[in-house]
Amino acid sequence: MTGETPAITIPDDLLPADGRFGSGPSKIRPEAVAALAATGREYLGTSHRQTAARFMVASLRNGIAELLSLPDGYEVALGNGGTTSFWDAASFGLIDRRSQHLSFGEFSSKFATVTRAAPHLDDPDLIESVPGTVPEAKAMPDVDAYCLTHNETSTGVAAPVRRPDGAEGLVLVDATSAAGGLRLDAREVDAYYFAPQKCLASDGGLWISALSPAAVERIERIAASDRWVPASIDLGIALDNSRKDQTYNTPALATIYLAVQQIEWILHNGGLPFAAGRCDRSAGILYGWAEASDYATPFVTDPALRSSVVGTIDLDDAIDANQVCAVLRQNFVVDTESYRKLGRNQMRIALYPAIDPDDVEALTHCIDYVVERLR
Ligand SMILES: *Cc1c(COP(=O)(O)O)cnc(C)c1O
Repeated sequence: MTGETPAITIPDDLLPADGRFGSGPSKIRPEAVAALAATGREYLGTSHRQTAARFMVASLRNGIAELLSLPDGYEVALGNGGTTSFWDAASFGLIDRRSQHLSFGEFSSKFATVTRAAPHLDDPDLIESVPGTVPEAKAMPDVDAYCLTHNETSTGVAAPVRRPDGAEGLVLVDATSAAGGLRLDAREVDAYYFAPQKCLASDGGLWISALSPAAVERIERIAASDRWVPASIDLGIALDNSRKDQTYNTPALATIYLAVQQIEWILHNGGLPFAAGRCDRSAGILYGWAEASDYATPFVTDPALRSSVVGTIDLDDAIDANQVCAVLRQNFVVDTESYRKLGRNQMRIALYPAIDPDDVEALTHCIDYVVERLR
């Protein structure tokens, strides 16, 4: 660890209007929090089995369907526990015998760890590549679920999302940091699952999954089989409840509300093309600045793989990235630290739709200001 953080005060006129650049939990728009507070006694603290909350769940499910332009027959399910719980749920309720995983960072490797440990599944097929790149899926006759990650949040790589050539199995996509910020052709996926504390600018603890008719059929078939599944991660039970605009057990009503606020904000502004375009603009600013800088470099070398929702920037070894982040934090510009396990001299900056591209621009000026004073 570094020693004491130098006392550097960034001038007010350089600071972003909002200093939250964390990749998750991420910036929640103050307007959404104000709207939640304004519900007063009408929503928080009321039963999740009654109309106010069920109406909100319905808005969430319909909003996701519209945001992702889901084809006819797709359904939106939800449950408690975030993406990590969904991995457990999928290992019981969506995978028949054997999965294939593209592993190219912390999050994509974690799902593979789940399926490898599951006693009722065969060992998964693992296709790995080094951080900063993405491997290619390969159709295999005994694989019934292809597990992709739309955006590897630990490395800042955005991967293509499409069915592997000749694949018969389901395509399960971890879209936790992608959903609502990266473009999607939903016909290429069977389960597009995520949690709302990233692009959806809400809080954690919930999983949401857009399911194709094939995924629904798989869930219902496994649910009717004699496979034992813990009830809290039983996707058959989750689907039944979702269809009634409920969850199996009590959800965080604030999380649902804030997610709906963000989805409606995106839809009112033009939908996914608006959100993705805004992220593109932020990414252009961040990567453009790094390429022009004499001390910063985009970590992902292939520009086509550089994420427009989470940017990773390596700093020259002469400058301690942790120290830069610590100085920024003292100035209320927070959560720019790199993903800890990646172990690089790096900054990681969220570019989610809620984050104003002007604030990303301001952040680059703040980093320049700090680095000039640290050199
Ligand atoms: C954040 C993240 C997760 C973990 O989500 P939780 O809701 O904390 O379980 C999984 N996958 C990706 C790609 C993520 O970005």
